[in-house]
Amino acid sequence: MGVIFGLEDVPRRNERYEVVSGDVVETADVCIIGSGAAGAVLAKELVEGGRSVVLLERGGYYEGSDMNQRDLDMMPLLWKNGGFNFDDNLRIPIAQGSCLGGPRIIKEAVCFDPPLRVISEWRTLGVDFTDREWSDHTARVNRTLQVTDVSEEELNRNNRMVRQGAKAIGLNDHRRTAGIASTACSADSAISAVITKPNGTSW
Ligand SMILES: Cc1cc2nc3c(=O)[nH]c(=O)nc-3n(C[C@H](O)[C@H](O)[C@H](O)COP(=O)(O)OP(=O)(O)OC[C@H]3O[C@@H](n4cnc5c(N)ncnc54)[C@H](O)[C@@H]3O)c2cc1C
Repeated sequence: MGVIFGLEDVPRRNERYEVVSGDVVETADVCIIGSGAAGAVLAKELVEGGRSVVLLERGGYYEGSDMNQRDLDMMPLLWKNGGFNFDDNLRIPIAQGSCLGGPRIIKEAVCFDPPLRVISEWRTLGVDFTDREWSDHTARVNRTLQVTDVSEEELNRNNRMVRQGAKAIGLNDHRRTAGIASTACSADSAISAVITKPNGTSW
């Protein structure tokens, strides 16, 4: 057992990357700031389309083997301001990830396809995909994220009670997920930028 940035009780991290200790000059077609849902996807698509990309991330680089799934250890490591992140008036807590992959590392893994009303709104903003293109792109994202239906045995009592309440007020009961996350998954089942890096590259 080793100690990783103050974190105990996880195996010594496997450092497969070069730690930047001074100024570095890089030349690339595109520089993306932030490796969250938007930045990481954009980087992957650009690299796979033949562009060179520099992706800058403020937070640290952690993989499943660095994680022990305990809130007290994981929140300071992966959440912005250790989870104590608020609006200017300190009234509204704002959950944000701060690590390679951003909140996709700590997400709840809830997945649903873009609702029709969202697609309609985006069309008014100029996104001119046909219905067929929408469905092809959505299917591709679902494949990449390995989205599956949540099975009955994965639901605990809390989940069942929420479902019962949702049904009572007429909400849809279609549950889909892309791995386990929230406290960060030690088995890397949370499909994030750490997993969906561009083909044939490493971070
Ligand atoms: C706890 C939690 C659970 C969630 N669960 C779900 C879910 O189950 N399903 C779902 O669909 N959505 C979920 N979300 C929402 C989803 O994660 C966000 O909508 C999405 O990540 C937003 O993407 P983004 O690229 O705009 O920003 P982010 O993903 O937040 O990415 C921003 C990235 O930029 C980095 N950054 C910021 N400033 C700088 C800087 N100056 N220099 C370098 N890097 C910087 C940050 O560290 C971060 O990695 C969840 C969010 C949280 C916080």
